Amino acid sequence: MSFVQDLGSIAIAGLGPGDEALVTPEVTAALAEATDVVGYFPYAARVAPREGLTVHASDNRVELERAMLALGLAAQGRKVVVVSSGDPGVFAMAAAVFEALESGPDHWRTLDIRVLPGITAMLAASARAGAPLGHDFCAINLSDNLKPWPVIEKRVRLAAEADFAIAFYNPRSKARPAGFARILEILQEACGPDRLVLFARAVSCPNEELRIVRLSEARADMADMRTLVIVGSSRTRVIERTGQPILYTPRSALGASS
Ligand code: SAH
Repeated sequence: MSFVQDLGSIAIAGLGPGDEALVTPEVTAALAEATDVVGYFPYAARVAPREGLTVHASDNRVELERAMLALGLAAQGRKVVVVSSGDPGVFAMAAAVFEALESGPDHWRTLDIRVLPGITAMLAASARAGAPLGHDFCAINLSDNLKPWPVIEKRVRLAAEADFAIAFYNPRSKARPAGFARILEILQEACGPDRLVLFARAVSCPNEELRIVRLSEARADMADMRTLVIVGSSRTRVIERTGQPILYTPRSALGASS
């Protein structure tokens, strides 16, 4: 009989963009040892059921409740894995768990907490298309759930002015049909009609779709919530070849010394 009570643990894991082959062995091992999986329905559904594993699936937009549930279970000695799609640190559950930890009871701070990275959508999309993020880039979440819309517009304008390639997460939803159209207008003004845009939908899933267009041809309805959009910098270009063209951004900026 052991007198040492097993401390619980919590791993905040990224499941990658969809394809099983893109889940890291570290995440697979954590899931194999878990007693509890906590996550948004479609992500929790990606974890194979087995005896001894309880899956706590919840709706979107309840990240903090989900994080508190996970910390509470770990505090009872359970081995909890919180699942996110892509990488858990990119617009996902890792920050939510730390927000809950910061404002939660002191004893949560004794828990074993780890973040297990995954392949985030912009890297999966970029790899499929070529290398559009080959030079400086930034990522912007277009959801205005957690930030005011004027902040989003300002960040997009300044990122375009700084000539970053920009990866857009959560470009469009039924709740915000007009937002992405407005972003395309801002980008047209700032970058002109010829700037290249990648629409990468359901990357690494059976219904994956990739489309490369100029800003003048880009329409808001080319994106949905399963789409990652990359707007190139002024240097981003296409190599035409047999088969799918390659979209890439050379490593040097204009005016570089070599
Ligand atoms: N943590 C996730 C991002 C969550 S936000 C990650 O690191 O990838 C959800 C947004 O991610 C979606 O609206 C979409 O823009 C993007 N996304 C997630 N998976 C995707 C996929 N397989 N293909 C294209 N975009 C994806």
